Amino acid sequence: MTRIAIVGGGISGLSAAFALEEQRRNSSPNLEYVLYESSPRLGGVLHTEHIDGCVVEAGPDSFITEKPWAADFCRTLGLGDQLIGSNDADRKTYILTRGRLVEMPDGLMFMVPTKILPTGLSPLFSWKTKLRMTQELFHPPRAADRDESVAAFVERHYGTEMVDRLADPLLSGVYGGEAASLSVRAVLPRFAEMERTHGSLGRAMLAARKKISTLTRQPAPPLFTSLKAGMQHLAETAVSRLTSNSLQTNTTVQAVQREAGGWVVSAGMRSDYFDGIILALPGPAAANVLRLASPELSAEFAAIQYTSSITVGLGYDREVRQSLPPGFGFLVPRSEGKRLLAATFVHNKFPHRAPEDRALLRCFFAGRNAEAVWQLPDDQIVGIVRNELQQILGLRAEPLFARVYKWKSAMAQYGVGHLDRLDRIEHLRQQLPGLALAGNAYHGIGVPDCVRSGRDAAAQLIKS
Ligand SMILES: Cc1cc2nc3c(=O)[nH]c(=O)nc-3n(C[C@H](O)[C@H](O)[C@H](O)COP(=O)(O)OP(=O)(O)OC[C@H]3O[C@@H](n4cnc5c(N)ncnc54)[C@H](O)[C@@H]3O)c2cc1C
Repeated sequence: MTRIAIVGGGISGLSAAFALEEQRRNSSPNLEYVLYESSPRLGGVLHTEHIDGCVVEAGPDSFITEKPWAADFCRTLGLGDQLIGSNDADRKTYILTRGRLVEMPDGLMFMVPTKILPTGLSPLFSWKTKLRMTQELFHPPRAADRDESVAAFVERHYGTEMVDRLADPLLSGVYGGEAASLSVRAVLPRFAEMERTHGSLGRAMLAARKKISTLTRQPAPPLFTSLKAGMQHLAETAVSRLTSNSLQTNTTVQAVQREAGGWVVSAGMRSDYFDGIILALPGPAAANVLRLASPELSAEFAAIQYTSSITVGLGYDREVRQSLPPGFGFLVPRSEGKRLLAATFVHNKFPHRAPEDRALLRCFFAGRNAEAVWQLPDDQIVGIVRNELQQILGLRAEPLFARVYKWKSAMAQYGVGHLDRLDRIEHLRQQLPGLALAGNAYHGIGVPDCVRSGRDAAAQLIKS
C-alpha cells in the first residue's frame, strides 16, 4: 500500500487528489490518499453564491483561456458543456484618469501599443508618454541577466506614467500587488524575453501578431473562461469524484516531519504515516507546517509575500443596468487616491451570470487598500464602495443586495528574485524525498497554474 497525504483542499489540492484518484482507479488499487483541509469546506478561495438570480463570485470569477489546464480539468470532470467564454464583443476596460473613466485604447497588449492611431488619440496618455511609445520602437535588445521590478522595466520602456496608468492597475487586478515590488522575470516572463530578443516590446509584439495571423485565420478564443454556475462548481465536481472517506475537512495540519523514510502528518490529536506528501498550501501556511522538517525550506516559503484582498458583490435593478457604461469594468490607478482598485460589470463580461433585469458589480480591494479597511464591519466597507461608485459612475441607487468577502493573505506576490528563490526551494525539496509542492506560491497564481501544479505534484510522487 502506498499512502500519500495532501495538505490543503483548495483547487491545487483537489487537482492533486483527483490525479491520485484516477491513478488509483486506473492502475494502482494499492494507492491511498488523504486530503487534509482546515476549513469545513473544500475549494479554498473558489467560492460562489447564488443571490437573486445572480452568480456571485467571492474569489476568482474566471481564468484566462490561453492557459489550458483549468478548462482541460473541467472537461475531464465532464464539465465541458458548462464552460462559458467572456463576452469579448463587448470588451472594453476603462481606466480612471483624473476622476474620469477613459477607455483603454484598442490594440494595447497589456501596456504595449500595437495600433498607432487609437493610442495616439487616447486621452489616457500625455504627449510625453506617446512620444516615449514611438521612441520605444528603437529600444535596443538587452540580456535578461538580472531581475528587476515590473515598474522599473516598464519605466525603462515607456516612462512612469505608463506604470501608474496601466502596469500597476493591471497587475493589482491580477496579483493584488504593486508593480514596484513584483518581479518582471516571474510575472511578465514573455516581456523580459521580448526585450532580450527584440529590444522593443512594440516591435516584438507586432512580429508575434504577424506570425499568428499568418498561421491561423480562426477567430481568437474568448480571453476569459468560466463556468455557468460559477467557479465553485469546478471544486464541487472535483470533490464528488474523490473517495469520500479520504477527505478530512475541519482538520488543520500542524506539522509534517520525516520519519523512517516517509512522512508523519500531525493534525489535531492524531498523527498518521505516509509515503509521500503534497503541500498544496499558500507560502506562509507551508512554512508553518514544514518548520520542524526543514527550517531552511520553511524560511524560503515564509519569505514569499502574500497580500490580502476583499471582493464586494453588489446587485442592482434594470434601471442601473441601463445606466452603466458598456464594457467589462474599470481599473483605478493608485494616484487617483481611491480605495477601490477595480470593478467588473459582471452582467456584461459574463451575461449568463445575471438575469436581464439585473446589474451585477464585483468590486475589488487588495494589498494596502484592503488592509486599510480590513477591520471595518461589512456595512461600512459597502458604504466605502458605494461612495466611490457614486464618485466614479454617478451611481447613487441602493443595491438590491451586497456581499463582502475577505481573503486573508491569499494572493502570492512574486517579488524581485522570485525565480532564484524557486531554484533554492527546488534544491532543498530534492533533499526531502517524497515531498511535492503545489499551489500559488511558485509558478503562477491563476487557477490554471494551480490546477497544473496539483496535477504535476501528484505525477511526481506517482513516478517516484
Ligand atoms: C479574491 C481573489 C480573486 C482571484 N481571482 C482570480 C481570477 O479571476 N482568475 C484566476 O485564475 N485566479 C484568481 N485568483 C487566484 C486563484 O484563485 C488562487 O491563486 C487559487 O485558487 C489558489 O488555490 P490554492 O488551492 O493553491 O490555494 P487556496 O485556495 O488558498 O487553498 C488552500 C487551502 O489550504 C487550507 N489550509 C491552509 N492551511 C492549512 C493547514 N495547516 N492544514 C490544512 N489545510 C490548510 C486552506 O483552508 C485552503 O482551503 C484570485 C484569488 C483571490 C483571493
